[in-house]
Amino acid sequence: MSSSTVERQIELYAKELRLPAVRESYSDEAHHAQAEGASYPEYLLELLRLESDHRCQSRTQRWLRESRLPLEKNLETFDLKRLPSKVMHQVRALKDGSFLERKENVLAFGNPGSGKTHLLCALGQELVLQGYKVYFTKCSLLVEELLRDKKALKLDRKLKKLAKCDALIIDDIGYVHHDRDEIEVLFTLLAHRYERGSVMITSNLPFSKWECIFKDPMTTAAAIDRLVHHSVILEINCESYRVEQARRRSAAP
Ligand code: ADP
Ligand code: MG
Repeated sequence: MSSSTVERQIELYAKELRLPAVRESYSDEAHHAQAEGASYPEYLLELLRLESDHRCQSRTQRWLRESRLPLEKNLETFDLKRLPSKVMHQVRALKDGSFLERKENVLAFGNPGSGKTHLLCALGQELVLQGYKVYFTKCSLLVEELLRDKKALKLDRKLKKLAKCDALIIDDIGYVHHDRDEIEVLFTLLAHRYERGSVMITSNLPFSKWECIFKDPMTTAAAIDRLVHHSVILEINCESYRVEQARRRSAAP
C-alpha cells in the first residue's frame, strides 16, 4: 500500500472512531518515534496518551460550560488573605475535593459582600478542573425550576439529573419564600440529596434565622439537621469587599 493511501485510511479510521488527537498527531509522532528509536508499542502508547489528555481537556471544558459557574470568579481573582485564618485553612483542605467523596456539605455564612458567592464559585471551578461535576445555581432560580418541573410532573427526573453532579452549589438561600410549594420543593431537593451528594450553600442568614426560609420550626429543624450532619461551615465574617474597595479609593491621594 502506498504511504499516501495508508495516511488517508488512518485519517478516515481516526475520524470514524472519533480520535481527533490521533488524527492530528500520528504523523509527527511517527517521525519523532523514528528519530528517537522508539518501539511500536511506545509509539502507540504516546498516541493513546495524547488522545486521553485531549478527551480529559474537552470534558473539563464541557463540564465548565455545563456547570453554569461564573468563570471570572476563580481563585486567581480571589484574595484569600481577606478571609479569617480558620476559613483560609478550611478552604485549603476543601480544594482537594475529598469532601465530595465523603458527600459532605459546605455551608458559607457571612454578611453581604464578604465574598461567599465568589469563594464557593472559585472552589467549584477548582473541583471541575479536578474532574468533579459541579452545578451552580441561584436559590431563587432553582426553586423556580423545581416548581416548573413539579407542575409538569418531572420533579423526579430533575432530582435524578441533579443527583449526577458531585456538588450542587445553591447561592443565596436567604431568599424568602412565600409560597408553601416553593418551600416544599426546596426541602424535597435537600432531603433527596442528603448523603447522595454534596450541597454547597451560601447564606446571609445564620441558622437562627432560617425559619424565615422554611417557615415552620419542624421543617426548618429537619432541613438544618440534614445539611449540618456531614458538613464544613465557613464563617466569613469580614467587611464587605466592595465597601473596603470604596474606602480605599476615597482614601487614596
Ligand atoms: P457575598 O456573596 O458574600 O454577598 P460576593 O462573593 O458576591 O459576596 O462578593 C461581592 C463582590 O466582591 C464580588 O464582586 C466579589 O468578586 C468581590 N469579592 C469579595 N471578596 C473578595 C475577595 N476576597 N477577593 C476578591 N474579590 C472579592
Ligand atoms: Mg452572594
